[in-house]
Amino acid sequence: MSSDVVACPACGTRNRVPVAASGTPTCAKCHAPLPWIVAADDASFDSAIVAKVPVLLDLWAPWCAPCRMVSPILERLATDNAGRLKLVKVDVDESPRIMTRFGVQAIPTLVILKDGEEASRQQGAGSRAQLSAWIGRYL
Ligand SMILES: [Zn+2]
Repeated sequence: MSSDVVACPACGTRNRVPVAASGTPTCAKCHAPLPWIVAADDASFDSAIVAKVPVLLDLWAPWCAPCRMVSPILERLATDNAGRLKLVKVDVDESPRIMTRFGVQAIPTLVILKDGEEASRQQGAGSRAQLSAWIGRYL
């Protein structure tokens, strides 16, 4: 099982968070909810989008300037909503099947999934305030 490393917002301890889990990850040291930020690809995607919290899907690519602008905002929102939101980042250059599956025409495309089903989608970047309000409607 692959995993990603995030810093605990409460104590700063670096923790590995699983790509897939039945619950939500908590800090090994202080037990605070951790920002659940993972990268997924064609192989891990189906297990990555299964979560008991809403999933924010970030479909991006390294060459995409608006993607690089919006990614830190999304990571910040995942941190602000630790324990209530999972951020799944997919590099579409490496995972063309996911791009096809979601019918993505342009990136960044942001998709909110609840119980694995698409609840909302936004194409293009947005401000932190706009994205926070958008995501907040699904938490
Ligand atoms: Zn901690």
